[in-house]
Amino acid sequence: MARIVMKFGGTSVANLDRIRAVSAFVRREVDAGHAVAVVVSAMAGETNRLVSLCHEVGDPVPALDARDVEYDAVVASGEQVTAGLLALMMQNLGYRARSWHGWQIPLKTDNAHGKARIRDIDGEVIGTAMDNGEIAIVAGFQGVGDDGRISTLGRGGSDTSAVALAAAVGADRCDIYTDVDGVYTTDPRLTKHARRISKISFEEMLEMASLGAKVLQTRSVELAMAFKVPVRVLSSFDPPDAPGPGTLICDEEDIVEQNIVTTVTPDFNEASVTILAVPDEPGRAAAIFNALADGNINIDMIVQSASREAGFANISFTTKEADLEQAVEVLRNEQPKIGFKALQSDRNVAKVSVIGTGMKSHAGVAATMFRTLAEKGINIQNISTSEIKISVLINADAAEYAVRVLHEAYGLDAPKPTAQN
Ligand code: ADP
Ligand code: ASP
Ligand code: MG
Repeated sequence: MARIVMKFGGTSVANLDRIRAVSAFVRREVDAGHAVAVVVSAMAGETNRLVSLCHEVGDPVPALDARDVEYDAVVASGEQVTAGLLALMMQNLGYRARSWHGWQIPLKTDNAHGKARIRDIDGEVIGTAMDNGEIAIVAGFQGVGDDGRISTLGRGGSDTSAVALAAAVGADRCDIYTDVDGVYTTDPRLTKHARRISKISFEEMLEMASLGAKVLQTRSVELAMAFKVPVRVLSSFDPPDAPGPGTLICDEEDIVEQNIVTTVTPDFNEASVTILAVPDEPGRAAAIFNALADGNINIDMIVQSASREAGFANISFTTKEADLEQAVEVLRNEQPKIGFKALQSDRNVAKVSVIGTGMKSHAGVAATMFRTLAEKGINIQNISTSEIKISVLINADAAEYAVRVLHEAYGLDAPKPTAQN
């Protein structure tokens, strides 16, 4: 008997028919004699609806924290509905099942409401329930803060609930069921040439997730890597009795055939800010980025260049589109202290990254990227690199095209059908 954690995302549980389809996947594992916990997301679109309701109510409370606590109380409810419905369905099919909210486990988090981090999960209660043949159906995305209030883990957080639970109960497998049948060389919605990857390393998956591939939440990959949880990405749209092989996320050593570049990942949620004519002297960059850090604004690509005016520099950085307004406000408030002359921002940008552990030991990856984009007339505004990725910031209108041409340039396109077939 293995302990298995299964996770089903929003599209997989979009309506009662879909939840019924999910119940067939769960039955299959239980009937095979496994101890099973299931983590569910809210039905597709439900979290967005709940978030908009919060926005409609507006923000009359001066204390930001108080608002975030109630936001969590509202948006966490979506997952609770799905967990209850699936438990009811499993019971109707004659199985022992019960739903669990985060606080009942308890799944403890910090108090950063809206984007809380998991601190600790008591694996004992759920593990014992699973071993006793009761299917534990857990509301994903939620926990309880030290303040005793419901918390949520950030958008896409049910992936993290699932991997954390799998680590806590020492699961043999964590199977993430979604609406694609695995992790692809790029978002399969962008090109029909994308290919399913059968095995991908934790490091590559982590880069992909943090660089914008929606398929897994970044924190879930961090946890899988830290606790060595074997994670598979599978489709809940496959027949339950014959699911496809999906993608296994595993150690780099377990992958025999390694490409230099494994994936091309776009991120359409970027925005850029350029601060013009900052006095070119020690302490000014520190003042800028301290102010942004105090505002809890995450910064990504940073470039400093000479200004046309002697003794001044221009500083550009990127941030998430959702944080742009706040970043601009913070900087305007600090303008007298920082001493810059003007500020420009641009939402119409996207980041495109090529990722692969193979680039650690191969030259020419950056050259291929820059040459390919240049040949297609795509201008690069900003560049950042790590050991296993190169990212460029470009005009958002060119991003999908850039993904397709880079995908081809790195030999990732699926082979074209031959004349015979
Ligand atoms: P869920 O609701 O199941 O959590 P998500 O919408 O969060 O599903 O993630 C699945 C989506 O991730 C897919 O529909 C796909 O469009 C997107 N995606 C982006 N990049 C990739 C990739 N490289 N491989 C597979 N899917 C990707
Ligand atoms: N329902 C939440 C969201 O839409 C969490 C999740 O689906 O993973 O972000
Ligand atoms: Mg998701």
